[in-house]
Amino acid sequence: MFLPVALAVAAIGHAKADSVPAAPAALSYSIDLNRRTDDLFHVTLRVSGLGPGNAVYQFASTAPGTYQVMNIGRYVKTFEAFDARGRRVPAERLAVNQWRLSEPARVRTIRFAVSETWDSPLDRPIYKMCGTSIEADHVLINPHAVLGYPEGLQATPVRLRLAYPAAWTVGSALKRGPDGVFVADSYDQLVDSPILLGRLSRARLTVTGVPIDVYAYSRTDKIKASQLLGAMSGMLNAAGRFLGKLPIDRYTFLYHFGEENAGAWEHSFSSEYVLEEAEFSDSVGQGVTDIAAHEFFHIVTPLNIHSEIIEHFNFVTPVPSQHLWLYEGTTEWAAHVMQLRAGLKTPEAYLQTLIRKMQVDLRAFDSTYSLRELALTSYSDSGQAQYGNIYMRGALTAGLLDIRLLELSKGQRGLQDLVGDLTRRYGKRRAFPDSSLVDTLVAMTHPEIRDFFDRYVWESERLPVKDYYAKLGLTLIEDEHGLPVRFDLDPNPTDAQRILREAWLGRKPKASS
Ligand SMILES: [Zn+2]
Repeated sequence: MFLPVALAVAAIGHAKADSVPAAPAALSYSIDLNRRTDDLFHVTLRVSGLGPGNAVYQFASTAPGTYQVMNIGRYVKTFEAFDARGRRVPAERLAVNQWRLSEPARVRTIRFAVSETWDSPLDRPIYKMCGTSIEADHVLINPHAVLGYPEGLQATPVRLRLAYPAAWTVGSALKRGPDGVFVADSYDQLVDSPILLGRLSRARLTVTGVPIDVYAYSRTDKIKASQLLGAMSGMLNAAGRFLGKLPIDRYTFLYHFGEENAGAWEHSFSSEYVLEEAEFSDSVGQGVTDIAAHEFFHIVTPLNIHSEIIEHFNFVTPVPSQHLWLYEGTTEWAAHVMQLRAGLKTPEAYLQTLIRKMQVDLRAFDSTYSLRELALTSYSDSGQAQYGNIYMRGALTAGLLDIRLLELSKGQRGLQDLVGDLTRRYGKRRAFPDSSLVDTLVAMTHPEIRDFFDRYVWESERLPVKDYYAKLGLTLIEDEHGLPVRFDLDPNPTDAQRILREAWLGRKPKASS
């Protein structure tokens, strides 16, 4: 869905008003996961103090970081409300994601049943890593795909009690009370934390003082959490060095290895992966590490650098932000370049990744779509068809921005430094205005950067990959159709090229006094 700016702004104001609770109601959920044969989550909500402003129970239309319309109400099979004596309080369906309670003040219990998304044959299915699954030996819960909230109570604390087999292991970044109940400060925090439970393996590592947990479900036990952690530990330490200090106090990786390669989804303190199971090998480990590096780097953006559209998330109506180039493009660039700069990837391997991204951009996507347009239309069908290019052209663009920044500062400050500055300037609780970020970036760097954004983010000029990498003494070789084949490293770069190449490899020149 595309929203013009005026509508988007109106929607933001609406979400802000919603997040102020009208009544001090507590939301206490329980889900019985011992009942698993009907592919339904049987949810009970105990609540009191609902007022007229809380009459509409809202399921999520989308969720942060997915850029996909989900309409979770489609999966809701039954919805009933009861008073203190167990008598029905009528509830009617208003819209795909909304039920209205006829007398909210009387309601003490709401019961609903929600289908797991993986086994629901619906048109426009939601991404598996954003969905839910109930099986004999494990359950995946992305809370936004099971639970909603009464209108006006998006910011109210939530308690979630899960009943499940005693032998199961539970992986989640959600905090738990002494009684084992999951607790969240708000709906936003709840849906920021997927839960994977069942027959899982687990492993732990500490990076710059931050505990990192890995939980893995592997359908036929081919892959263990300890193997994944072994493969990722170099990357995690490189991320610590790349960022100086990790902007988190804990982190949890949740892996599901089954029949399908669906992808991964980032959160503030965790990420969830749905990948195809295979015998573990070095190449499987590297593939997992590349995806994990991407998701892990999201702790920087959008989680610590984001616009107000993400800060005050609107679960009722999807509202796009134009800065997908930052959230996804820069993240994908960082996932690979931090491994290059740590020596975990050779320049040749890194450059080959760029070649693949250029080939996919040129062959599979519409070259007239700018990154901004891609972002603003991400909730529409036409935008969804181009969305995947944010991982290709978006990442390539971030790489060029890095080279331009290094060039303008004679190798002193690139995109890595700018990202660090932005993290310090904004952070988790301070959003940037969606409309003025580029002005801020120009003010923080060089006037020439505005022209870069005009051409390659706002517009869709063909990326000057050949010219920019030539500044590093790297020659892009193309075939007779103009498609990229490989980069050749000039063994005798000029002094200027050598300085930029060293900076690009993470070795900065000493600042002259
Ligand atoms: Zn991402």
